[in-house]
Amino acid sequence: MNYREFGKTGEKISALGFGCMRFPEYKKDEKNYVDQDKVDEMIAYAYENGVNYFDTAPYYCNSGSEAALGHAVKNFRDKILISTKCPMDKGMGQDGYRKHLERSLTRLGTDHIDFYHFWGINRGTFNDLILAEGLLEAAQKAKEEGLIRHISFSFHDHPSAIQHIVDTAEERGVKMESMLCQYNLLDRANEEMIRYVNEKGLGTVAMGPVGGGRLAAPTDLYAKLTGKASIATYELAFKFCLGNPNLNCALSGMQNLDMVQKNIKVASDDTAFSAEEWEQLGVAMEEIKKFSELYCTGCKYCQPCPVEINIPRIFEIWTYYNVYGLKDHAKNMMRDYIRHGGKTFADCKQCGLCEKKCPQHLAIRENLEKVCKILAE
Ligand code: SF4
Ligand code: SF4
Repeated sequence: MNYREFGKTGEKISALGFGCMRFPEYKKDEKNYVDQDKVDEMIAYAYENGVNYFDTAPYYCNSGSEAALGHAVKNFRDKILISTKCPMDKGMGQDGYRKHLERSLTRLGTDHIDFYHFWGINRGTFNDLILAEGLLEAAQKAKEEGLIRHISFSFHDHPSAIQHIVDTAEERGVKMESMLCQYNLLDRANEEMIRYVNEKGLGTVAMGPVGGGRLAAPTDLYAKLTGKASIATYELAFKFCLGNPNLNCALSGMQNLDMVQKNIKVASDDTAFSAEEWEQLGVAMEEIKKFSELYCTGCKYCQPCPVEINIPRIFEIWTYYNVYGLKDHAKNMMRDYIRHGGKTFADCKQCGLCEKKCPQHLAIRENLEKVCKILAE
């Protein structure tokens, strides 16, 4: 296993982190339960092979993840780093923060949490909840009492909000010590901010870059990008993440022992991308996007559509299908989009407004018709 300095936290973190959001489950009386025996086996294997960072949250796995993780690590609790998260409920105040923390400690069966995150925050929750309701101070107090060792946040917003969060917390006298955010070969929006916070001394963890999710599907992407023999997509995804010198750890939500074994193998491999290869890969990726027949930049100028067709979203899903070759995954994304009420070409009123506003001069209607049909097959 490869290890990295985890920002300036003083910890060394394994390059592979264990995301505990996809534990195996079984069904009984119409309810899902975590399969503890399998979890124990997977976690023990990961620990014995060098994984030392385990990331859970109160609502993962039908709220069963924390307890399952606590059970699985009880014999080596002090040799690993546990990360969990505080739900952000409006009006929770310092008491609410404390209640969430105590509940997580109980479920995990531990007297301290190594990295306690403000969960899934954005500029709004940071300003209106964390600052306004004194949660930074609540975190600092919990840290002084030894209940948490490091104050962290996980993030879902425009990257520009990250700097605001980190700098404002520091001005208030509470240092954020690590950040968990979305980052992978297909979604590099947070790259600049990962560099910024890492330079400020925060540890950096990427969520969802390997295993499960969209990069788990087999594809010839690597061969297409480099001209070299193809490697497994999870391997490419993982190597790309850790080719970024500012990223300390890539989390994988592992579902079975096979996935744990495969990821550990990649994370223990010394053939990481060089900085140069990493740059080249990123550039090649952008080029592939540009030369695809339908190059939607996602600028959203075509929005709003009078019947609320989310054109950039549908074209983004098409990119997964057409450019990255993740066909099944793209179809799943489209099904999700429709299930959540998303409108498609079938709803188009042919007003043509979108095409007048598109700076790429895309034949939006023609393309929408084609891609909606293929993605719905
Ligand atoms: S042409 Fe169709 S997709 Fe474009 S704005 Fe009008 S209704 Fe929306
Ligand atoms: S305006 Fe054109 S390029 Fe921009 S999001 Fe809409 S379709 Fe894509």
